[in-house]
Amino acid sequence: MNIETLYVYPEERKKFVQILERNRTVSGFEVQCFKKDTAVIWISLGARAVLDSKEKLLYILGSSEDITKRKQAADAVKKASEMAEQANRAKSLFLATMSHEIRTPMNAVIGMTEMVLKTPLNKEQKKYLEVVYQSSEHLLALIDDILDISAIEAKKIDFENHPFDLDKLIRDVVTMFLNKADQQNIKLYYSIQEVPLYLNGDAARLRQIMVNIVNNAIKFTPKGTIRIKTTYDRDADNNPLNQETIKLFFSIKDTGIGIPKDKFYHIFEDFIQLESSLSRTYGGTGLGLAICKKLVTLLGGKIWVESDLSQGSTFFFTIRMNLATPDEIKALEYLTSTESEPQMKQADKFSHNAFKRFHILLAEDFEINQEVITPMLEKHGFLVTIVVNGQEALEAVQKKSYDLILMDIQMPVMDGLEATLKIRNLENRFKASTPIIALTAHALKGDRERFLKAGMDEYLSKPIHSNELIRVISKLLNRRETGMAIPLSAPGKGIDLDYGLTLVGKDTELLLTTCKAIVKYLPLKIRDLNQAVSKKEYQKVARLAHSIKTAAKSVGHRKLSRIAFAMEQSGNEEQAQRVVKIMPFFNLYGQKMLAELKEYISSVEPKTPML
Ligand code: ADP
Repeated sequence: MNIETLYVYPEERKKFVQILERNRTVSGFEVQCFKKDTAVIWISLGARAVLDSKEKLLYILGSSEDITKRKQAADAVKKASEMAEQANRAKSLFLATMSHEIRTPMNAVIGMTEMVLKTPLNKEQKKYLEVVYQSSEHLLALIDDILDISAIEAKKIDFENHPFDLDKLIRDVVTMFLNKADQQNIKLYYSIQEVPLYLNGDAARLRQIMVNIVNNAIKFTPKGTIRIKTTYDRDADNNPLNQETIKLFFSIKDTGIGIPKDKFYHIFEDFIQLESSLSRTYGGTGLGLAICKKLVTLLGGKIWVESDLSQGSTFFFTIRMNLATPDEIKALEYLTSTESEPQMKQADKFSHNAFKRFHILLAEDFEINQEVITPMLEKHGFLVTIVVNGQEALEAVQKKSYDLILMDIQMPVMDGLEATLKIRNLENRFKASTPIIALTAHALKGDRERFLKAGMDEYLSKPIHSNELIRVISKLLNRRETGMAIPLSAPGKGIDLDYGLTLVGKDTELLLTTCKAIVKYLPLKIRDLNQAVSKKEYQKVARLAHSIKTAAKSVGHRKLSRIAFAMEQSGNEEQAQRVVKIMPFFNLYGQKMLAELKEYISSVEPKTPML
């Protein structure tokens, strides 16, 4: 045997001896050694301490194996994968930069095509240009997706952290798709179960994931229903009451064409589309789910699908989000309450030209009340069915699904409380969860608790006021399902330039000038306001908030003008806390308004593409 002296670093020797002393045996101890000629080798050592009867060390029995080749191979693999990752990151960076450069002229192509399409054209020209328009839109979507995926791969995305209202986010997503779903005769439902609604995280990314999955569900569902469900993962360490973060669980279930089992994994890879004919019809890049998967992973979750061909698919995903702090919750609640007036306006508008009409069951035995309440509901576009006691209400719900029940408490045969209990115990869970509003003649102390305990969602005391009735109904309907529900705010835009136009006597030029002035001065005002708040210069806060309120009003941005109004009112020491709480929302909506105004300005003044 060729015995050779090997040298090791002293600390390695010490480690070896320590293990041996502690365990009396060592196995698979890998160590780098040096030969006399300084050549480096790797060996794996195994050893056992042999002791005499008094536990004194007699000698050490050991073996060594030369593992240099194995180590070198592992090193080579590691280096290669590092290089590949570096190359991939460089590619992604290149794509991200390129896609960005391509986006600019593409916007010009689309903008110009849109303009030409508005001019007089013959049929043939219109047809060709529409193809140009659609193709450019598709190309832009593809570029956006590539931009996104490259940014993620190049690790160039930062997740934002803002307080947001989860319920509203999901409602907005559903509202976005209402028309499309309606055109295909698809019903869209959503439910949120026991999830803390005020969270802190990247709402835009969550929205992006949901939009992609819901869009697919509609694309691949010729008819039927889509149900969006949100709940939280109830493992033991995930109790929202004692955690700062929560694991949210989403499912989007459709009754569409389904996905073959052997493709469940592939659809989350880049550029995978299963149904090329459908994708051609409906567009799509094959990148959507790949982006979702990457985002979901970065948000600490997972995404997967279950599906049966021709029966439908359910996409599931989880993400982790922080819970909003008590202060943020107060601020969000404040914002929601400032929204209530426009909410009702929207509610009126939408229920009149309703996509589908809500069907309300009125359980009331007293004719005069029937005659008073029915027109209040019909005026707002609701369909009304009247029953005269709890027994009839129970039977009606079993025969047909209602969107909401107005339940009188005192009725013959079966009273409202008993009927509610029976409805809540129905086997059909959807029917069992129909919102129920108690109608009561005299609300006594403790009645409210009694009604809620019986499973009612709200109560109204008679005489019923139309505004209050519609407000409560809208609230409950929105909570239950937005498939047919009332959008609470105009989707997307915060500015309302039609309103702005009425303020300047329909003078579009003047409106444009106003918008430009706001874009120029608002960032400075917002900066000054932030400074004034941090320096506690309350008079200045009030003055600046006032001028921002006027600006926001002039372009119909109700939300910002309300927040600015609240700040204007809070410009003193006592209310300082309130100002600080509102500030993040003020900045957020300020930036959003600026972005919208810039978009508007560039849409009416398109830049000529450079030739
Ligand atoms: P695309 O933009 O083409 O929709 P995605 O990555 O979002 O790309 O989806 C990839 C493919 O997965 C789709 O082209 C489709 O074949 C399949 N797919 C996604 N969602 C559904 C669904 N809800 N039902 C059936 N097939 C689906």
